[in-house]
This record gives sequence, structure tokens and C-alpha cells, in this order.
Amino acid sequence: MSEKKTLGIYVHIPFCKQKCRYCDFLSFPIANEETKEAYVDALIRNIQEQAAVCADRYIVDTIYIGGGTPSLLSFEQLQRICYAIGTSFQIDPDYEWTLEVNPNSAGDSVKLMMLRKAGINRLSIGAQSTCENHLQNLGRIHSVQDIFLTYEAACKAEFTNINVDLMYGIPGQTVEDFAKSLEDILYIAPQHLSAYQLIIEEGTPFYDLYHSGQLKLPSEEAVAQMEEILFSWTQLAEMHRYEISNFAKPGYESRHNLRYWRMQDYLAVGLGASGFFFGDPGIRSENTRNLKEYLEHPTAGTITQVPIHNEMEEFCFLGLRMLEEGIDCEHFRNMFGRRIETVYPPALFERFIQQGLMEKKNAPREAYVLTPRGAEVSNQIMAEFIQ
Ligand code: SF4
Repeated sequence: MSEKKTLGIYVHIPFCKQKCRYCDFLSFPIANEETKEAYVDALIRNIQEQAAVCADRYIVDTIYIGGGTPSLLSFEQLQRICYAIGTSFQIDPDYEWTLEVNPNSAGDSVKLMMLRKAGINRLSIGAQSTCENHLQNLGRIHSVQDIFLTYEAACKAEFTNINVDLMYGIPGQTVEDFAKSLEDILYIAPQHLSAYQLIIEEGTPFYDLYHSGQLKLPSEEAVAQMEEILFSWTQLAEMHRYEISNFAKPGYESRHNLRYWRMQDYLAVGLGASGFFFGDPGIRSENTRNLKEYLEHPTAGTITQVPIHNEMEEFCFLGLRMLEEGIDCEHFRNMFGRRIETVYPPALFERFIQQGLMEKKNAPREAYVLTPRGAEVSNQIMAEFIQ
């Protein structure tokens, strides 16, 4: 019998109490309790129907419940989802199972303890800032105090793998404001930090305000200073920058997200969720984004074939996001059956190396990685790997 491959599962919960002003994710204010319950029923059907197709070939080692705001579901609803996954798939005993929580709805240490007992072993707390005025400006529903109460409750519930999300480049944010938020979060010492620069996305209230000149963003210089502080203070806190926007204490890197960046298989369940299975061609699935349709037919959606040359491009630009691992040459050979230098001309790598933007590592594995200067212009470099 051939050995089973590993699999990640992403579960999407599209409900939020209110829409944040910068958010373009598939999420919306929850209508009523019946809709929530019907959604969980549909999700469980979605999990079981997918398991019937692929569970015998895989062993699941990462699960990520994201959104939206998954913590808006009750303990019983989250437990039903955990049970459905745990009984439909074989789970690796050394698994990582993350739940995204909003500081306003995570619940107390008792609920969090019960979730840990139900199998969840990693929490991701959407803090974003520890300045009250910025939280309000972003349209977040939580207060600064909620962040610390949630973190304390998570520690009491014996979670030992916690991520905190922070944002920078927020309207009206000064370098000092960001330094304060970062200091506050590093003080409570989570194992993992995701720090993203705010992007103004089309179709959001921030987009309209920005384009009518009513939203004042920090200058490029201020953002650069925030990043300088971010990179040096996380280093002092013994967190390493293993991905463009992600920092972790050793051993606490997000295994589920690494799966995306390494192009390993992941199944997606839930409204609008997108999964990927590597192959020649690869398969990308996207569930319907229509709630009514999802509730009736949870497997409705589209399947797209991804040609092998597109997979090679993705492998390279996702690899470059991983600032320590980089584009792993042996992994490339194993996946595509050819050397990377036969796909991309050696002169391309040489040029970046000579410009001080990339280096070639030979140990522990042969890989092309971005230098800190290369990371600053990563988008331009990644674009050159799209043929
Ligand atoms: S909580 Fe997250 S998903 Fe929900 S609206 Fe805010 S940013 Fe979007």
C-alpha cells in the first residue's frame, strides 16, 4: 500500500459582528442564529462529502479555522466542526489546529479550555493595534482591554502556541503609535506574530475615503521606520522572520501557512474557500460564494486545472516569501522532475545575486533566498518569476 500524503484543511466561517472598514474578505454581519446553525450543518456535510472523496489517501496534519470571525460560533458549534473533521479524516497525532479569535468574542478561559480539549491547540488573536483610536478608526469591535483579557484567558486555558496579528500603516498612525502597539504585544510574549501593512482594497469604505482624499495614511518614510522597529524589536524578542510578514519563536512557525507557501496539498471547506492539490496539472477548487447556494449544495463551486508551468511560477514566488527557506532547489527537482536552472536562466539568479538582493545557500539545503534588501523589493523580484 502506498504511503499516505499529508493534508491541510482550511475551514471558512464568513460571519462577523460588523464589517471592518478596510476588509475585503468574504465575510458579513451575521443575520440570525438559524443561519449560523444552518451554516454549521452545511459545513459538516461539506467536510463529510470531501472526506468521502479523498480521506483514504491522506493524513491530516494541519487544520485552520479562519474567517470572518470563527469565535462568533458557540462552543457547541465549534465542537461539532472539530468532531466532524476528527471522525472523517485520519489525523496525525502531531497535528497543528488553529482557531482565529476576535478579542471581543473569543470567550473566557472556560470556553477556551473546552476548545483546547476539543482538539484546538493554536489560537490566532486579531489584535491589530493597542491604540484605542486606531481600533475604532479601523472599525474593529474590540477594545485594547479585550486583547489583553483574551490573551490572559488563552494562557489560563493552557494554550502554549498563540499568534497575534498586528497592522501598521494605519490612517493617522505615527511611528510612536506603532512602537507602542508592538511593545505591548512583545511584552505579553506570544510565540508568533503576524504584522501586515494596511492595504487599501477596492470596494471597502477605506478605498472610497482614500480616493476622495479623506484618509491620511502614514508617509513612506514613516512606514519604513515602523518596519525597521518591527524587524529589530522582534529580533530582540528572539523571534525570527521566517516569512515576509511573519515572525516566530523557534519551533512555532505556522505549519498550516507553511503548507501554502510550500505548495503542499490543502482542502478547503466553507463558503468561498479555495483549496489546492499539486499535480500535473494541479487542481484549484473554489467553493461557491453565494450563501444560499452553499447552504443547499455545500460542494457547489468551480474546479480549475493549474498547468505545470504556472505551478513552477507559484512555487518560486511563494518560495521567495519564506526568507530563510527560500526557493528550495531539491524540492523543486522532486516536484517538477527538472532543475530550476533549466526553467529560469542562471543569469536571472546571477543578476539578483550581484545586486545584493538574493543569495544562494548550499546548506542546510540548496536554495535561493532573498537578502534583507531583496525582501524590501520582493514584489518586483517575484514578478520576474512569472513568465
Ligand atoms: S473581523 Fe476580520 S474578517 Fe471580519 S470584517 Fe474585520 S477584518 Fe474582515
